[in-house]
Amino acid sequence: MGIRTGQQYKEGLRSPREVYINGERVTDVTQYPAFRRPIEAIAKLYDMKHDPRHQATLTFPSPTTGDLCDICFMPPKNAEELGKKTAAYKLFAKSTYGVMGRSPEFMNAHIMGIAESSKFFGKWGQQFEDNMNRYFEYVRENDLFLTHALGTPQIDRSKASHEQRDLFLHLGVKEETEEGIIVRGAKQLATMGPITDELLVFPNGRAFKEGDERYCMAFAIPVSTPGLKMLCRQPFVPNDDRNVYDHPFSSRFEENDAMVVFDDVLVPWERVFFYNNIEAANTMRFNADVSIHATHQATVRKLVKFGMAAAIASKLTDSVKTNVFPQVAERVGIIIAMLKSHESALFAAEQCGEYNDNGNWRPNKDFLEAQNILYSKNNEVIVDLIKQMGAAGLMLTPSGSDFFGPESENFQYYFSGANSDGFHRVQIAKMAWDFFGDAATQRLLHYERFYIGDPMFYAAGYSNRANIREWLDLTDELLAQGREQFSAKVQ
Ligand SMILES: Cc1cc2nc3c(=O)[nH]c(=O)nc-3n(C[C@H](O)[C@H](O)[C@H](O)COP(=O)(O)OP(=O)(O)OC[C@H]3O[C@@H](n4cnc5c(N)ncnc54)[C@H](O)[C@@H]3O)c2cc1C
Repeated sequence: MGIRTGQQYKEGLRSPREVYINGERVTDVTQYPAFRRPIEAIAKLYDMKHDPRHQATLTFPSPTTGDLCDICFMPPKNAEELGKKTAAYKLFAKSTYGVMGRSPEFMNAHIMGIAESSKFFGKWGQQFEDNMNRYFEYVRENDLFLTHALGTPQIDRSKASHEQRDLFLHLGVKEETEEGIIVRGAKQLATMGPITDELLVFPNGRAFKEGDERYCMAFAIPVSTPGLKMLCRQPFVPNDDRNVYDHPFSSRFEENDAMVVFDDVLVPWERVFFYNNIEAANTMRFNADVSIHATHQATVRKLVKFGMAAAIASKLTDSVKTNVFPQVAERVGIIIAMLKSHESALFAAEQCGEYNDNGNWRPNKDFLEAQNILYSKNNEVIVDLIKQMGAAGLMLTPSGSDFFGPESENFQYYFSGANSDGFHRVQIAKMAWDFFGDAATQRLLHYERFYIGDPMFYAAGYSNRANIREWLDLTDELLAQGREQFSAKVQ
């Protein structure tokens, strides 16, 4: 089949599914006000793949049928092909101004990376490796939109999964049948879950202990599987009536998050990648290519968001000419420097990659993980800098309709900027506030801090994973020099 249209994506969402939100069960997610615009934003991404202006950038021929497939599924053969994927990720991300972390590209890149590591699953049985390869091909050929749920519900973090007050609070295998495994319990959480086609479950890399075997599994099932329930958080933008002048981002791009409950769900054997396997659960996340292509896509998406931040800071300060003050210009300069250093790290990661065991190109893990760690910290700095430079202008923002209401002249006059009327100046301030201050975009900042897993564990793990051999050797050389003068005395 190959690439789908936006309409086909929307039709797929009409498959029966259990979605609960704001006190009701939603039967048709495409008609639910809080989902309608995000669904339109995603549908546009599917349509872009059919647009003759973008098709060459966004697609590649399927290795099995020759039909056009989404390029995010393409294992890159070298740095040049990885660069082509960067161009595609960027084009997709620009369509949502970098504020949708979980548009389909993220999981498309992720499942491609996981399939590149399919031999990992084969260590516990050839059928698991085959299952992963077949599943990846199925997703690629049908152009499906995936979500994933890795963690366990918070409930009581001081206890292991098997020590919780109920055996099946955390998702666990209840029984094995001829058809597959029956799973019960919950996973926290699945961003975009209600409006995706498929759910991928695997562990988040936190250490499982002896006794936790039943909780250690990886599988994939359709979101419409009987017994699967999405329990959504309250939406920040519950209706689809916000206008784009007042809320350019939050009016369209809010991503919902859901607790996923499995009420004795059958996972067919061909969809199981491992189960009852502590070793696989504790090592999968950081194995080979499992996460790195998703990280690469996210780094490109963040580049677009950084670019937007730099441009917003520049326009905001120019609109009221605070940019003539050196300390304000300095803040804009710092944000631009963050953008450029992010861009150069991304380029270096693409060029300084390596070939994996399949002969395909893997971006430089150390460089991308470093950017991942620094990005959410830089995000917080950026928000603070924009708040400092925007001051009251970020708050004193009438609605767009005030410029056409009874006091329109005064609104235009007193809200004007150095070189623009009120309508144009206020639009820039609104864009800045909606970029990071609205509840929906503050959620994105929270997402960006946590989406890779607990940032503390991630950075702690990085201190062991990252290669600093060259610098350890240099310090060893220095230490050896110091010891030399005592060589006669030291054994
Ligand atoms: C907006 C948003 C969207 C997300 N989307 C997804 C998604 O689509 N799919 C998905 O799988 N996940 C998703 N996540 C979940 C994300 O992976 C987790 O938030 C992250 O792994 C942290 O886990 P937690 O939230 O359960 O926090 P917890 O593990 O409960 O941690 C809370 C605090 O306790 C500390 N802590 C917890 N355990 C320990 C310990 N053993 N030792 C020391 N300190 C500890 C942590 O450092 C942290 O400060 C999303 C998160 C957010 C915020």
